[in-house]
Amino acid sequence: ITPWLAAVLVGNNPASEIYVKNKTKKFEALGLKTDLFRLNEDISEQELLSLIDKLNSDAEFHGILVQLPLPKHIDSEKVLNAIVPTKDVDGFHPENAGLLSIGKPRFIPCTPKGMMFILKHFNVDLNGKHVVVIGRSNIVGRPISILASLKELGNATVTLCHSGTKDLKYHSKQADVLVAALGSPEFVDASYIKEGACILDVGINRIERDGKSKIVGDVNQESVMGVASSLTPVPKGVGPMTIACLLRNTTISCKNRLIN
Ligand code: NDP
Repeated sequence: ITPWLAAVLVGNNPASEIYVKNKTKKFEALGLKTDLFRLNEDISEQELLSLIDKLNSDAEFHGILVQLPLPKHIDSEKVLNAIVPTKDVDGFHPENAGLLSIGKPRFIPCTPKGMMFILKHFNVDLNGKHVVVIGRSNIVGRPISILASLKELGNATVTLCHSGTKDLKYHSKQADVLVAALGSPEFVDASYIKEGACILDVGINRIERDGKSKIVGDVNQESVMGVASSLTPVPKGVGPMTIACLLRNTTISCKNRLIN
């Protein structure tokens, strides 16, 4: 039995095309299966929900991924909530978010899960450390703050910052481990960090520089170099780990099906 992912792509958003292609390519390279369901930009919400319904009950698929963002006329929350939680390999369904928050995760969202693997791989022990997260989205900031704070996982002290945070620098400068997930190109420079901090740069921002298009993170890498003790690069840092964790979650889902 081969883990099998159904990927749903609505419209022609160029960034989404690249993200989905990178994901499906990796699945194929490792001998896992994917089916890509391409839908027109003007598909109705009801038609999309009907497709999700079909994928939910199709025993062939172990995981369902709906690439975000969806067109404005579709309620993304409604669509994500329609995915049966046992196939929600992105970990966005409220049931899976709830399980994570009580320390009993089923599917951990791929980006924060990937970050935890990076920290483990490089022996960055979070136990008793101060982790500061900038950004509180349900897909990155909030779940990494939960993972870092769970006793069985990070056991860190966590501060979660957002656009309403007063004096962001005061908080970020206290971080032993700083997670930058705000979606603002090269926002975090040396003035935001404490010497020796470990930095996870989650941002993926496309900018124009010297007449060329370039991907940069939320951290000004040049500025923090020599001040931070370690830093994940952009590109090729957290991004590939997100894909690796999607593969892992789909494999876990396949295994769960065999057990149950
Ligand atoms: P969202 O836009 O959903 O969330 C951004 C968060 O940052 C919000 O909580 C917002 O606050 C906060 N924020 C924005 N500006 C500031 C500021 N100046 N000071 C403090 N907080 C601020 O973004 P995502 O979480 O979806 O993504 C964040 C970044 O990570 C993006 O660049 C995205 O492309 C990238 N990303 C990368 C992935 C990867 O695989 N590497 C996967 C997913 C995302 P508020 O809540 O108040 O609005």
